[in-house]
Amino acid sequence: MGRGSANTTTAAEKIILLGSTGSIGTQTLEVIQQFPDRFQVEALTAGDNLDLLAQQIQTFHPKWVVIRSPHRIEELKSRVPDFKGTITAGSTGLDELCASNAGNTIVVGLVGMIGLSPTLKALKTGKKVLTANKETFVAGGHLVQPYLDQIVPIDSEHSAIFQCLKNESKKAVRTIYLTASGGPFRNHTPEQMNHVTRADALNHPNWVMGEKITVDCATMMNKGLEVIEAHWLFNIPLDKVQILVHPQSMVHSGVEFVDGSILTQMGAPDMRVPIQFALGYPERLDAEYEGSRLNLFTMPALTFETPNEEKFPCIRLAYEAGRLGSSATAVLNAADEMAVSLFLDEKIGFNQIPMLLERTLEQHQEEGVVLSPTLEEIMTYDAWARRFVRDHQLSHA
Ligand code: MG
Repeated sequence: MGRGSANTTTAAEKIILLGSTGSIGTQTLEVIQQFPDRFQVEALTAGDNLDLLAQQIQTFHPKWVVIRSPHRIEELKSRVPDFKGTITAGSTGLDELCASNAGNTIVVGLVGMIGLSPTLKALKTGKKVLTANKETFVAGGHLVQPYLDQIVPIDSEHSAIFQCLKNESKKAVRTIYLTASGGPFRNHTPEQMNHVTRADALNHPNWVMGEKITVDCATMMNKGLEVIEAHWLFNIPLDKVQILVHPQSMVHSGVEFVDGSILTQMGAPDMRVPIQFALGYPERLDAEYEGSRLNLFTMPALTFETPNEEKFPCIRLAYEAGRLGSSATAVLNAADEMAVSLFLDEKIGFNQIPMLLERTLEQHQEEGVVLSPTLEEIMTYDAWARRFVRDHQLSHA
């Protein structure tokens, strides 16, 4: 990780932050504010929350801003009349920014498939990539794998595994234990699962996150996607990655080695900790936030359980897709993005999410799985899966 690792006596590390108004984005800026000499925000990108974006522009003075819609560029300009930098829009705007020399480190806080293309651009131009975008690996793991030494994960589980594997040989890994809180329905009966509402699914017991990922935690698809992410990110066979339910969310994941030793990483369930780890890596930065420390003397007992794959079929579907190949994981991911958005719009019930995913995956298998699709092919599979879910939602009602 030679590139971009600034030390405190030289110029600040120039940061491009994708998804600045989201959960990862706002917490990344909170960390950056603790180290004004070390990090400089060169570019911010956001979707539709122009109120917050305008505040961030005034606080962090980036030189380049990208928003979702070209039709809102004038509106943003009128909110930040003193801003003299560049404003562009859309996925072309994101790609251009990430391929440019505007920064040497990129933080990917985007949710969904839209993270893949800009991440590839940043990797190909030699940038250090700190990423919380699991879809990059789920849809295009084989495309990013040649650049693994430029990547530091932000996802809390993958940050934990990354820390446990540091200075270890991959050959010595017996099992990766990917921990899962189990979500809000861990103790629900099958009958209760039939009556889950949007509000129930958005009520996560331990973590505060965006809506899409919170619903994914409730179906446990989030964990399924993270298994695939870990497989690519650490170049470890899929079947060596096991989900371990740990309701207290304090052990963030672990690795068992061939000699029987198990290393784990622990901490409070607070994303600012893995974000700060990634920003500082290979150095550990010294900062503390309200609630970001774990008190071992007062913590509750830690428990571990086997996940219930019957109640949470998304886990099985993720492993199945992962064994099939990258077009299948891209399809599964896109189908999930669409199904979750239909659920959030209250168009389908909670149990329909895994049913729709299974149906989509079966159809894709019939039409033919491709092991290593190109980026263009991934985009085509992605669009197909979204359409398929939209067209088949009613037949499950
Ligand atoms: Mg996670």
